[in-house]
Amino acid sequence: MKKSWKIVAIFALMITTLKKYFGFDSFRPLQREVITHVMQGKDALVLMPTGGGKSICYQLPALLLEGTTLVISPLISLMKDQVDALRANGVEAAAMNSSNTDTSNLLIQRACVERRLKLLYISPERLMMDAEKCLQHIDISLIAVDEAHCISQWGHDFRPEYTQLGILHELFPHVPVLALTATADKITRKDIIEQLKLLNPKEFVSSFDRPNLSLTVKRGYQTREKNRAILDFIDRHPGDSGIIYCLSRDKTEKVATMLRLHGISSTIYHAGLSNVQREKAQNDFINDRVQVVCATIAFGMGIDKSNVRWVIHYNMPKSIENYYQEIGRAGRDGLPSDTLLFYSAADYIMLSKFAEESGQREINLEKLRRMEQYAEADVCRRRILLNYFGENMASDCHNCDVCQNPPQRFDGSIIVQKALSAVARSEEQVAMGTVIDILRGSFSPEVRDKHYDKLKTFGVGRDIPARDWYDYLLQMLQLGYFEIAYNENNHLKLTTSGKDVLYGRMKAQLVTIVREEIQPKKRSKKQAAKQQAVFTPKVNVSDLFETLRALRKRLAEEEMMPAYIVMSDKVLHNLTLACPTTLEAFGNVSGIGEYKKRKYGPAFVEVIKEFVK
Ligand code: ADP
Ligand code: ZN
Repeated sequence: MKKSWKIVAIFALMITTLKKYFGFDSFRPLQREVITHVMQGKDALVLMPTGGGKSICYQLPALLLEGTTLVISPLISLMKDQVDALRANGVEAAAMNSSNTDTSNLLIQRACVERRLKLLYISPERLMMDAEKCLQHIDISLIAVDEAHCISQWGHDFRPEYTQLGILHELFPHVPVLALTATADKITRKDIIEQLKLLNPKEFVSSFDRPNLSLTVKRGYQTREKNRAILDFIDRHPGDSGIIYCLSRDKTEKVATMLRLHGISSTIYHAGLSNVQREKAQNDFINDRVQVVCATIAFGMGIDKSNVRWVIHYNMPKSIENYYQEIGRAGRDGLPSDTLLFYSAADYIMLSKFAEESGQREINLEKLRRMEQYAEADVCRRRILLNYFGENMASDCHNCDVCQNPPQRFDGSIIVQKALSAVARSEEQVAMGTVIDILRGSFSPEVRDKHYDKLKTFGVGRDIPARDWYDYLLQMLQLGYFEIAYNENNHLKLTTSGKDVLYGRMKAQLVTIVREEIQPKKRSKKQAAKQQAVFTPKVNVSDLFETLRALRKRLAEEEMMPAYIVMSDKVLHNLTLACPTTLEAFGNVSGIGEYKKRKYGPAFVEVIKEFVK
């Protein structure tokens, strides 16, 4: 067979397998590229936002390759969820970890040796225990390291047991290793590659954009206003699952009680509860027995619930990575979902204190500063988020509060050029404070030592007060004109688009600075109404959707499975649009594979037929 025909045949097989087991008609961005790459036996690092579709990147090769794919995963609950979801699609999978009995681990091993398992999920410590004696007898097709940022101290969720994974290639030579993560800045990415000793890995970085998440920030609310805003928000999301993140355990309890008093079912989740209590809270949420979970940051990593419709931050998170990962737990199914962040000076002070006392003071303070800039932003918030992850967005998102209540802008090219020229002329060896000293013509010790007063730009920005320069520089940072090198004394480094403005190839729009002198504690009704108007109105949930949701709940209860494993909200939504009244039409709906068609098709078709009669 000619090479090009071979490729066409492989692609065709990939697509039919995708439809057969997962019910999808096409790949999400980068999935096909990653799969083709690992199928050739090569290493790779995959960076995709939560909900981007990382699992398919190793689950599909697992189905197509001979042998068993090992998936290394940090949390037992996460493994269980994935294994349940695979089995619900008719794929043979199992998880090996410390919560299993010895007998069940032995049975799983035997299934692997007999080539009955396509995917084996395993914890890093279990892998190290079993690698030499047991796993060597298994034909391993691929090793996927999920949540790979856990290997890096730079990442936000370092797990010591991950650091042993550097010997994977030694233990299993010739087996490709695929590292996957949703959060990794450049340093973490480099660290993952080095520590896992990946061989010439290709990096697949997909867009971090989650356009289905709306972004709203509310500044300076007192407890009572916050509670009122939360109740209003939940009123606008009747019956929809959501998470409220709080900074302290005490707050989770207070907020949950407040919700219960208003008739909203809620539970709490934090590190101070027993394992049993935590598991119950998680299960109640996953199985839609409670609508809201009030949690500290400990919650969420282990769950894959695809129909979380909203996330509220009662307090500001300590970094943009944390924030983005936490809001990312909403809308994994791609349907519109809302996020709301409350931000107050008190949060900032408390978090600064944590950062000061942490082992990595400088880094943590800088991360917090970036989070604060996001909260204070008057440019499109999504642009700021994406910029943070190294992506430039061409236009504003129209789905954040800033886009919906746009601030005034002006042509600020000259201001930007002055600042960037100061950065360029000091050879990118200065931090923000010194750039402002140069612009304002201040003889600070650094300016004197390094003779920056001799630069042509010295004093060209005297007409603008320092605090406004600080604001403009933040805007420039947020617009992606320069980056901050944290590992180089926070020096500013020009980006390509920064150079475009500096050399007059592009204009720069800045936001007019409006100083709010005093923040009134109580807002008028009119103001409150205006602020609430930033939410996108919810579409009316159709009766059919509710009927199908009830059917799904019944089926899930019969099987003792979370409802979203039986069928995601997205699939239910697709069903309401397609209204299939035959089994064949049911099977054509996106998200329905052959196994689910046979298993659930008759019940759903019957209900839909009844409905459209
Ligand atoms: P991640 O692990 O990156 O957070 P998942 O692998 O859990 O994301 O996928 C997120 C959602 O997207 C899941 O509901 C999954 O079924 C869906 N999905 C993945 N790939 C596709 C695809 N090619 N077409 C449609 N939906 C997909
Ligand atoms: Zn926006």
